[in-house]
Formats: sequence, C-alpha cells, structure tokens
Amino acid sequence: MIVRRMWVAALLAVIAGVGALAVLAFRPPAPVADAAAGEFAAGRAEQHLAAIAQRPHPIGSADNARVREHIADTARGFGAEVTVESDDVVQPWRDVVRVATAHNVVARVPGTDPSVSGGKALMLVAHYDSVPTGPGAADDGAAVAAMLETLRVLRTADVRNDVVFLFTDGEEFGTLGAEAYVRRHGVDGLGAVLNWEARGSGGPVWMFQTGADNGPLVEAFGASSSRPIANSMASEVYRRMPNYSDFTVFLNAGARGLNSAFIDDVRDYHSPYDDLERLDRGSLQHHGETMVGLVRALGDRDLRAGDGNAVYFDLFSRVLVHYPTWLAVVLAVLTVAGLALGVRSGRLRLRAVFAVAGVAVGAVVVAGALSFGLWALVTAVRPGLAFLALSEPYERGWFVAGFLAVGLAVLFAAVRVVRRWSSAEVIAGVLALTAVLLVATTVAAPGVGFLFQWTLLLGLPALWMPRLAFLPPLVAAAIFPPLVGTLMVALGMPLSAVGVVFALLAGVLLMPLLSSLPRPGTVSAGVAVVAVALLAVGTVRFGFDPDEPRPNSLIYLLDTGTGRADWLSADPAPDPWTSRVLGENPERVTLTDVYPMLDDPLMRAAAPSLALPAPTATVVEATEGDVRTVRFRVTPTASAWRTQVTLSDRRACRFGEVDLPGATLELYGPTSREITCDLDPGTPLEVAVADHWIGLPAEASSLVGPRPADTMPVQSGNRPYDAALVRATFRL
Ligand SMILES: [Zn+2]
Repeated sequence: MIVRRMWVAALLAVIAGVGALAVLAFRPPAPVADAAAGEFAAGRAEQHLAAIAQRPHPIGSADNARVREHIADTARGFGAEVTVESDDVVQPWRDVVRVATAHNVVARVPGTDPSVSGGKALMLVAHYDSVPTGPGAADDGAAVAAMLETLRVLRTADVRNDVVFLFTDGEEFGTLGAEAYVRRHGVDGLGAVLNWEARGSGGPVWMFQTGADNGPLVEAFGASSSRPIANSMASEVYRRMPNYSDFTVFLNAGARGLNSAFIDDVRDYHSPYDDLERLDRGSLQHHGETMVGLVRALGDRDLRAGDGNAVYFDLFSRVLVHYPTWLAVVLAVLTVAGLALGVRSGRLRLRAVFAVAGVAVGAVVVAGALSFGLWALVTAVRPGLAFLALSEPYERGWFVAGFLAVGLAVLFAAVRVVRRWSSAEVIAGVLALTAVLLVATTVAAPGVGFLFQWTLLLGLPALWMPRLAFLPPLVAAAIFPPLVGTLMVALGMPLSAVGVVFALLAGVLLMPLLSSLPRPGTVSAGVAVVAVALLAVGTVRFGFDPDEPRPNSLIYLLDTGTGRADWLSADPAPDPWTSRVLGENPERVTLTDVYPMLDDPLMRAAAPSLALPAPTATVVEATEGDVRTVRFRVTPTASAWRTQVTLSDRRACRFGEVDLPGATLELYGPTSREITCDLDPGTPLEVAVADHWIGLPAEASSLVGPRPADTMPVQSGNRPYDAALVRATFRL
C-alpha cells in the first residue's frame, strides 16, 4: 500500500510538472532589439510606435491625421504603393446612426508572380485609430508598428503574391474603416485576411478566430509561427460572444482569414495606461514574428487552394497539432467504439460506472456553481469591482488561485464518494463521461472535441491495465492549464466559473489516481479553507492607488439655449475627486437624450454656466410643396471631436444620397456636414446639436481640480467618460 501511494504521489508530481511546463511556456518570445535586415525586430517597430502612441488619436481627431501621415510616409519610404482612401460612412449602430469620414491607409507591395493565386492578394489588417481615453500603444498601435516593420522585412525578399497592408480608421467606433474598405473593394481580390488586435497590454499573441475553410491557413500558421498559440475551441467560443473587430466585417463579406491578439493585462485596455511604458515588448515581437512567418508561408502559395476546416491546438506553445474535421469525426467514432469494447470486456458493474460518471458531472456542476456564487458574494462586498473594465481586479491572481482551489476542494470531495467502487470502475466512469463529452462536442462544436479526444484515446489502455490510469490526466496536463488560464482572462472574473468548469473536466480524470490516497475528505476540507482564505485576501486587498487607479468619469454638460449646466458621472457613487462637484448625494437621472445608448442612471449636480463655444445648425435651402424639404448645415466648433444631432418629427433624412435610419446622429470630426430632411408641410424641424469634447476643458477642470493620480478615465462599452458636452437647439 505504501509503495503504491508513493508511486501515485510520484505520478501526480509528474502530471503537475507537465501542467506547470505548459503554463510557463505560454508567454511571448523575448523582444529582439536589432536583428538582421531580413528578420523582425521589436526594437525597430518600437520607433514607429513611439510616434503613433503619443496621445489618443480617435477617428476624426487631429492626432488621428498625424498618425495616418506617419504610417503613409513610412510605408512609402519602404517602397510600397500607398494610397489614402477617404470614404464617408453611414452606419446604424443600435440607437444611433454614425456618420464619419474614414481614412484608410492602403500600402500595396506588388508580388513577383501574382498569377499564382489568380491575382488574389494576401492582406494584413490593423486599425490605427485609438479610443479617446488612451494613446493606444497596444490597441492597436503594436499591430500597426509591427505591420510597418513587417513591410520593411518583406521588401528584403519579395514574395509571389501581392501583399496589401491595410491600416484602418474608426475600428473603435463601429469598424467604420473596414466597412468602407469592403464597400469600395469587396473581398473577391483577397486570398486571405490576417487581422491583428490587442485587448490589454501584454502576454503572448494567440490566434483566436478563423473564417471558413481555415485548413490551409491553420497549417501555414502552425508551420511558420515561432510560437503558434491557438486552439479551435477559442474560435467556437468567440463566435458565440458579442465581440467584434475589423475581422468581423471581412468575415461577414465572405473572406477567409485568421484573427490574432494579445489579451493579458486587460486593466490597461482603453485607458491612459495603454501606453508605450506599459506595453509588453515581447507581445510586439510576437505580433511581428507571427506576421513575418505568415507572410513568408502564404506569400508564395496559391491562396485559393484547399477547403475544409481544421481542429487544432498547441502543445507547450511550440507545436500546433492540426487535422481536418472529418478526421476528427472518424477518430471520435473509433475511440468511442474502443471504450465500449473495453467496458464490455472488463468485469465491471455498469451501475457503478454510471455512478462514477454521475459523481464527476456533479463535481463539475458544483464547482462551477460555487465559483459563480462566490464571485457574486465578492462583488456584493466590493461593489467597486463592477466598475473595472470587464470587472477584472488588479490583483486577479488571488481570485484565480481561489477559484481553482474551490475546484480542487470539490474534486477531493468527489474522490471521497467514488472510493467505494473499484479502480477499474472509476477509470471506466471518468472515461465514459469523457466519451459523452467527445460525442456532444463533435456534433455541436467540432472545434472543441480535441479536449476529450486525446485524453480518452490514450486512456483506453487503462481499461485493460488500470496501472495506466495516469495517462489521461497526463495528456490533460499538457492541454488544459494554459487553456483554462486563457479562458479566465478572456471571459474575466465574473465568468471565472467557466474556467473552473473546464479545469474540473480535466480534474475528474485524476479521480482514479486520487482515490488511492488517504483521507480525501480531510484534504477537501483543508483545500476549501485555503480557497476561502485566498478569495478573502483578494477581496480585502482590493483597493485603488496610483499603480492601480480607479476608473471614474466626470462630464460637464452645458445647454447654451437655457444656460443650464450640470456635472454628470456614470460611476456607481461619488469618489473623493468627483464628490468635490457632485457632492455626497447627487440626484440620479436617466439621460437618453444625451446618452441614447445608456439605460443606467447617471449622477447629476448643478454646475456653473461657462462661456464655451457652441455648434450651430443653419438652413442652406428650404422648399415647400407636398413635402417641406430642409437642407441644413451642422457646424461643430473646432474643439469638438464628435457631434450628436437629434432630429424631431420628420418623414425622412439623408446624408448625401444615403438615408439616415434614425433620429440620433453621431458625426465624427469637427467637419461641417449637410443633412437634408423631409417634413410635413408647414412643420418646423427641431434640431439639437451637441459637441462632445475629449476630456474636460480647462475652464471646467479648474472647477474640480486636477484628476488625482489614483484615478483614470476609461472607455468601456457605452459607459460615458470625461468630456464636455455643449448643446444648442435650433428650429429650422
Ligand atoms: Zn482594437
């Protein structure tokens, strides 16, 4: 018995070691300061980034034009054919209609023999605009800089296909540049689209989304990337999430391609800390190595070749395993048949096998439910957590460890229950559950099947030789840990339960080994205490300081018609800074006329009326007949970044030739624009025009004092951020 226990302990140590190795390997490569001319160097890309990420540069802003010129000049300097395509875009977006001029930079490197793909080009895409609240070093400056450096590398050894580097505008406010590109060119001329993103300021780049017929592209990615981090489950998960990027626009138009991003350190996302200082240089290097690898791998081949999808996953961030979906189905059928054979040939009580499987399911469900409930408890104690981007606490490690410990405690409790059955029955039980999951995923989401395919296949021999029960958890240790970690980052702490569920799906494979250890009940109780302690420490330590600033917002709203001025904030409660003007107990109001996409109430308090310049709306031409038609001009002030126009009762409005399907318009950039509306005869058109300034103007910020170092503005979803809104109303 002692020998057996020591043997089990040694096996568990090996399994833990493999898991640790998988986690440690999940990191970007070391940044290269200055490589040979034909290689990618983050050090060189960083010089472009220093120019790009000086200040926020959202669509329509002066800094946006500055960044665009830098990109166009640099690409021209590297010998590409560069055009700046400027297109008006009208895009309905929930309750508003966005109107903007998107300026895309298109840099083309002609191939030596584009007929190899029938003239179809390989395209790399990144957006050069940022949000108004941050300089966008990671999102998406790192990709833009890496693309410029990749363009330079490409010119040292041309490839056969045309390669197009597309730097889009306006991704952050509705993928406007990508829409403009697809409307102008379509996607027929594109063999493959490789999109590059960031959500956070560090970590390895993982290829998390593909289009249809991804087989050849996945194969090229696996063969060419220095660290090919990807799995086909991510694509299945992402497809079911409401997220979008430029890649979505190309996919919807029917293009093939891959989408890659780094997503660690999400706390910096869309904040002033998305800057050059915080950016992980390894992520920049990883972006570039992957780009250069893919351009070389795809540059000379027929991009039209091949169809069908692949199932794929990486091992230790170094090797990409991939095979066609049809093969995954065949493998699944054979493996499940093998399991049936093994269960039949063993002297097993089927009831016991089902009971073990049932206990395993129970463990997965209980661990998920407990994690979900515990997070709800944590946010009840600390409501401030809900206001962090994606509710992601700064010291998330305490919570990740805590939730994984919850899972471990539940696992040991389950082990205590299954000990009453023979080890052969326990093995058969967990493999039976794995088989059910394999069948279910192969039918519903084939990309997920690999999670269960390999643990089950390599576990089959254990049905005949229980001593081999260590094989399934050993395989799982190589596959699951980085995947669970990434799920917890991608979904955030509010959905950490999903990560715990996947951890337990792998964890239950340990039950045959663990059931030979003494006192699992005591171990379970001990681990539960540790879990609660870890979560408690994370909860107690939660707070804000200059390194971990509090996201908050303050908006100055002025109505120049009435002279009324207000302070507004979307925060849950006043903090030491905002309470200087909001007081301790401001009124709460829903202002859908000011923020049409925001249902949550805002805090409001009276503010002194400042002499700020207001936008105007003036009639250019009005005709009266069966219909009254008013053509009018909206002119923002030079300080405006965006101008909101709200139209009263009207039959229809147009911008140029395009109908405006909504009453609230968002015009981007301080550009004067003409709008035409049809009305019933004799009816005036009421037009409310509101300039939106980026940040508080000096006159307003002097009233509240400078932003404390332990706070920051963040753009997150529809939540308002620091701005001055200057409103004027007109009857035309
Ligand atoms: Zn982005």
